[in-house]
Amino acid sequence: MSRQLDVAARGGSRVRPADGILFVVTGASGVGKGTIRQAAVTGLGDIHFSVSATTRARREGEVDGVHYHFVEIAEFRRMLARDELLEHAEYVGDHYGTPAGAVDEALAAGRDVILEIEIDGARQVKAKRPDAVMLFIAPPSLVELERRLKGRGTDDEEKIARRLERAREELRVVREFDYVVVNDSLHDAVTSFQAVIRAERLRARRLSDAFVAELLRES
Ligand code: 5GP
Repeated sequence: MSRQLDVAARGGSRVRPADGILFVVTGASGVGKGTIRQAAVTGLGDIHFSVSATTRARREGEVDGVHYHFVEIAEFRRMLARDELLEHAEYVGDHYGTPAGAVDEALAAGRDVILEIEIDGARQVKAKRPDAVMLFIAPPSLVELERRLKGRGTDDEEKIARRLERAREELRVVREFDYVVVNDSLHDAVTSFQAVIRAERLRARRLSDAFVAELLRES
């Protein structure tokens, strides 16, 4: 790829890391992770969003293979047994996991990857891939989060209570993350999310040898 093309593919950055960057985004269910991510990636060039496998029932409007790979528990267990998941966790009675193959393929092709996963999975990824960038999306308050979960109308009272308890647990360990974005104003949250991605792409230690050689070229 020519240098000009590299620059275009990276959304305008002149610096090109050797491999794709792995971004792990965690935040309570209902906090608006998906909305922020979808708005943020526009204008940031090529980013691969990892589609998780889950045993959870499909919600209205969710598309198999786009929002999740919806699988039966037996299939999920098979994936685990074949060591196909980069991480996995149980969340409020359902299983969720990140298929490793698609993530590794994208990273090896130099594409950045975003995982949207809960805290147990985020920790597993950090242990396996210490270079992963950990981003936490926090609600403005737990009261506001409860309001959003109830407004969404996809979970019963008991599930909402359990999701709020998980949110509380995650907030207690927020300092394990590299960055935190509070979803108070959507516009500000999107801007901050983009700033994290742009800054990480500019890290000097990620530069490929080829790029440094290019910087040193005298003719
Ligand atoms: P939801 O049921 O609301 O779609 O997701 C519930 C929680 O599971 C959210 O915090 C979401 O980020 C998380 N989650 C989604 N996919 C995965 C995954 O592949 N692994 C893990 N560990 N968590 C996931």
